[in-house]
Amino acid sequence: MHKIKVNLKERGYDILIGKGIVSGSRTLKDLVAGRRCLVITDSNVSKIYGLSVLRTLKNAGAESEIIPFKAGESSKNLETYGKLLRQACRAGLDRSSLIVALGGGVPGDVAGFVAASYMRGLNFIQIPTTLLAMVDSSVGGKTGIDLPEGKNLVGAFWQPSLVLIDPTVLTTLPKREIRCGLAEVVKYGIIMDEKFFSFLEKNLNGIKRMEQKTYGEIIARCCELKAKVVCADERETTGLRAILNYGHTFGHAVETVTEYGKYAHGEAVSIGMCMAANLAVLNHKFAPEMAMRQFDLLNALGLPTTLDSGIKPAQIYKAMFKDKKVANGKLRLVLPDRIGKVSIVKDAKPEDVMRAIEEVVV
Ligand code: ADP
Ligand code: ZN
Repeated sequence: MHKIKVNLKERGYDILIGKGIVSGSRTLKDLVAGRRCLVITDSNVSKIYGLSVLRTLKNAGAESEIIPFKAGESSKNLETYGKLLRQACRAGLDRSSLIVALGGGVPGDVAGFVAASYMRGLNFIQIPTTLLAMVDSSVGGKTGIDLPEGKNLVGAFWQPSLVLIDPTVLTTLPKREIRCGLAEVVKYGIIMDEKFFSFLEKNLNGIKRMEQKTYGEIIARCCELKAKVVCADERETTGLRAILNYGHTFGHAVETVTEYGKYAHGEAVSIGMCMAANLAVLNHKFAPEMAMRQFDLLNALGLPTTLDSGIKPAQIYKAMFKDKKVANGKLRLVLPDRIGKVSIVKDAKPEDVMRAIEEVVV
């Protein structure tokens, strides 16, 4: 069992990681006993884990209801949000009630935003069931929904009261989803932890064989690293949190140009990290051998490291300027100095950026 304390200024919380952690958590009982809970999840996760979560909540002394919405990013919208708010009313939730977000990033974001806004804010518990949500979206307090005009345009910072992670639920997650989570895992190694990066290189077999112990350790380390960044820059004001965007300015451009169809987020981030590493070799101080280690690890994990033909590098370059994080038309890129350390580079030459993209296009 791993326990990670997220020490925020106003109020901290625990992340508990381990087999059976959802049903066996004492902290869960302390939080929910005698209260009403609304479990918000998607249609797939509801079928596989809905019943056991309801049972756990009941054993913990809570009275609960579960509301599933149609699985998929397209449900992360105003309509789902509105329906959930009204269902929260009908379920009789008051200010002492809790929201339980069960599922991947989509239920986590939507349920978190319901929790942030219903009656000006309820306590909520995150039970992430995808690797991506376990290592990334469930820690950090970002909640929200998409608008037809763009992704994550409405939301709030709202921290959970508890995060419960049982790595055994990854056994039912499709392999592609696992790979996508692993892209973010590699990202943590590059941006802040060389030792962790080596751990990944050494434990490839365990990762591929879905060994519980290996995943438990990976998830715990990523949560620790993310918690560290989030605590230093809770609301994205000091700029520290920007390092989490490594590979993302390039990656988001890949997602935009391919219209969010061809590559899943983690796959686009993998390609984006390759572009960023190329640029860091050209324009920064990153050693080619280190770029090669990143490339090899991503490849070994089955993640894409090249971009299929048909996509023009200039399209990617142009799309990079549409990123939310571009300030005053200037690219602020997170580039590695070495494995385990990155800097923000504001003066990358356009021709170098183009070249870094071209090297990934086959
Ligand atoms: P993320 O943004 O974290 O990738 P999503 O919420 O988009 O997550 O979930 C991705 C897909 O995986 C959805 O179809 C969801 O229903 C499904 N899913 C989530 N967790 C599990 C799980 N543990 N087992 C099987 N399918 C899951
Ligand atoms: Zn990401």
